[in-house]
Amino acid sequence: MAASLRLRGALALVTGGASGIGRAVCARLAREGALVAVADRNEAGAAETLRGLQAGDHRAWVADVGRSEDVAELMGQIQAHYSRPASVCVNCAGITMDEFLLKQTEEAFDAVLRVNLKGTFLVTQAAARALVASGASSGSIINVGSIVGKVGNLGQVNYAASKAGVEALTKTAAKELARYGIRCNTVLPGFVRSPMTDKVPQKVLDKFAAMVPLGRLGEPEEVADVCAFLASDDSRYITGASVEVTGGLFI
Ligand code: NAD
Repeated sequence: MAASLRLRGALALVTGGASGIGRAVCARLAREGALVAVADRNEAGAAETLRGLQAGDHRAWVADVGRSEDVAELMGQIQAHYSRPASVCVNCAGITMDEFLLKQTEEAFDAVLRVNLKGTFLVTQAAARALVASGASSGSIINVGSIVGKVGNLGQVNYAASKAGVEALTKTAAKELARYGIRCNTVLPGFVRSPMTDKVPQKVLDKFAAMVPLGRLGEPEEVADVCAFLASDDSRYITGASVEVTGGLFI
């Protein structure tokens, strides 16, 4: 349960909000009092997320974060509907296309980089531009990386590279946007139960769970709790940080 309404009246854009961690982030931010703009390429999933949110003027939009035209349209729709830009932006949209380096195709490499890294770039840039143009004095951008971006992982050469890029992008954005009062942080989940990890063989998940000092995989809500903290004023002196939400995996 949310301890308070730390985000009362804030407008939050959440990409990848149709599923897993993004859906949990939408729910947590709404419980903290935010209006939530859910963005995802999965229309049905985004609508389902919307139905699960507690009352408020929340909206869902279909967008492919890897397409600059979609991102521009999304920002325009948010501005038109709410007459202001989102002051909180959580980039959760992401994909995996796992294969060992020796077998990885150029197409799979490009596809994962396009969504995870370029998508995060496009949305971060558009969200920051909208905030700066509006003259807002503060904002919080939260990008979901992965612990895999720090330590690598078998079969995830494209994904690990994309998530390392997200962390570097976010630190750079933090340096450039601090003067506008916009904070940028990365959350690095470990292994979290979601439709993404449902694709991972159970024996691999069991292996990682056994390596986690806290003794289990994470839940989407446990990542969402950290996102809510980073979105709120409780983290007002934190920018450029990478917060591991891993149960202690790889410490
Ligand atoms: P998920 O598959 O449940 O959710 C990902 C969401 O992103 C889906 O709703 C999907 O439709 C959306 N999406 C994919 N491509 C998109 C695009 N081009 N445009 C818009 N939306 C798009 O997975 P999840 O586990 O909730 O992952 C959320 C984020 O957390 C991802 O960035 C993922 O890499 C990251 N992450 C997950 C884990 C984990 O263990 N589950 C660990 C570390 C990081």
